[in-house]
Amino acid sequence: MEEEKCPACGSAAFLKKKMLLIGKVRNEQEKIEKEGAPPPDQLYADQVDPAHLRNEPIERFVDGLFCTQCEKGFIPHRILS
Ligand SMILES: [Zn+2]
Repeated sequence: MEEEKCPACGSAAFLKKKMLLIGKVRNEQEKIEKEGAPPPDQLYADQVDPAHLRNEPIERFVDGLFCTQCEKGFIPHRILS
């Protein structure tokens, strides 16, 4: 199995598992109009293999990884759709 690495710093040394809150789908136009544009590194549920999405009401959480050096969360490649 390929080792997951932080997409920002390229290191695996600072990663820990973290539940990530992700958007339901990309291009949530209505939400953007109400709340403003999401941050550019916002993650979305339609990027993830549905088998790895949690059931409601926490379907927007996935088992992600978090780089403590960059303070960035990301979705491991193995669960991306
Ligand atoms: Zn990093």
